[in-house]
Amino acid sequence: MTVGILKETFPGERRVAVIPAGVATLKKAGIAVAVEAGAGTSAGFPDDQYTAQGATLGTRSEVLAQADCLLQVRTPGANPVGGREDAEALRPGQTIIGMADPLGTPEAADFVAAKGVTSFALELIPRITRAQSMDVLSSMATVAGYKAVLLAADTMPRMCPMMMTAAGTIAPAHAFIIGAGVAGLQAIASARRMGAKVEAYDVRPAVKEQIQSLGAKFVELPLESAGAEDKGGYAKAQDEAFYQKQRELMAKSVAAADMVITTAAIPGKKSPVLITADAVKGMRPGSVIVDLAAERGGNCELTKADETIVVHGVTIMGPTNLPASVPYHASQMYSKNILTFFQTLWKDGKITINMDDEVCRDTLVTRDGQVVNERVKALVAPAR
Ligand code: NAD
Repeated sequence: MTVGILKETFPGERRVAVIPAGVATLKKAGIAVAVEAGAGTSAGFPDDQYTAQGATLGTRSEVLAQADCLLQVRTPGANPVGGREDAEALRPGQTIIGMADPLGTPEAADFVAAKGVTSFALELIPRITRAQSMDVLSSMATVAGYKAVLLAADTMPRMCPMMMTAAGTIAPAHAFIIGAGVAGLQAIASARRMGAKVEAYDVRPAVKEQIQSLGAKFVELPLESAGAEDKGGYAKAQDEAFYQKQRELMAKSVAAADMVITTAAIPGKKSPVLITADAVKGMRPGSVIVDLAAERGGNCELTKADETIVVHGVTIMGPTNLPASVPYHASQMYSKNILTFFQTLWKDGKITINMDDEVCRDTLVTRDGQVVNERVKALVAPAR
């Protein structure tokens, strides 16, 4: 059994799926590891660290040919740039594991299936306690929440902490975090560490205590949000009247903030617009919005994905791949997640598909020439 680690080809993607320490884990299990030369370089893991752990280095085509299983950050579905070329180079019997955006690009899953490749999409890992150590979405949201605050702080014309100096007192910056899931909670913690005064809001009332435990103020809005959480712990979509009211009620907090970090998402749906163009007009010049929901439309009406724009002196940033800008630790976390997942499949010296295990069942997208995941299948069929 040979596991292959490729250099990521999506523009700006600096992460690597497995770091050198992970090679040691695979070798211990009796697995050979082939690494594309330079795969970890942009994440801070040079080739010699991989060879020191017993990996062999090769060209991309050598690794693609040798590997029985490829561990990637972006498998073809999540790589609209080089993914198709990689998928064409795959051969029947191979397995690929990584992020695949199977619900966003089901056609890529269909193509991979037709190549006779078994594939797993890590975005589909169920959010159950047992799978926490495999949860790439949580890991990457942690990194994104942290980095969003740094971006905002770096862009603001003011400092974050309160300072009493001989030149006078500097008031602390005000941060407002919308959505307190994994990314939002990390943004709250990061803004607090920098000394900002932090307020936060989430439709799920259950997070109030978590927000407060991080030293932030939970903004109480007179909204009927008792049924806002589904049984998986996610927010449910609300109707437009709810969002309209929420926008009005939040406008004061938005206007008072020097930095606003928005993370509000509804699984599988377009993100709700929570900051209108008018609300941006109400903000002080120099304020910054970092919209982490940019990939699915954004929480701010003016957000443009992967662009930074300035409107009425307010900077609005819509980064869609912040984890790639912290590639060392993002890769370290991703590597731990993907290898923990891989180990659940590894039985008696081979990859074993156990459909009784919900982690395996939920993430398996293609097998025996077919798209087998029901959610992806439902999207593929009409597209054919
Ligand atoms: P997410 O990225 O889907 O959403 C981000 C946040 O936005 C959520 O907290 C959501 O409630 C909030 N939101 C949605 N609409 C909003 C609105 N109109 N206004 C304000 N906020 C709004 O969420 P996530 O970070 O992936 O996590 C969601 C839940 O899943 C949490 O309860 C988290 O604890 C849970 N979770 C569980 C596990 C596990 O058990 N393995 C792992 C990760 C997350």
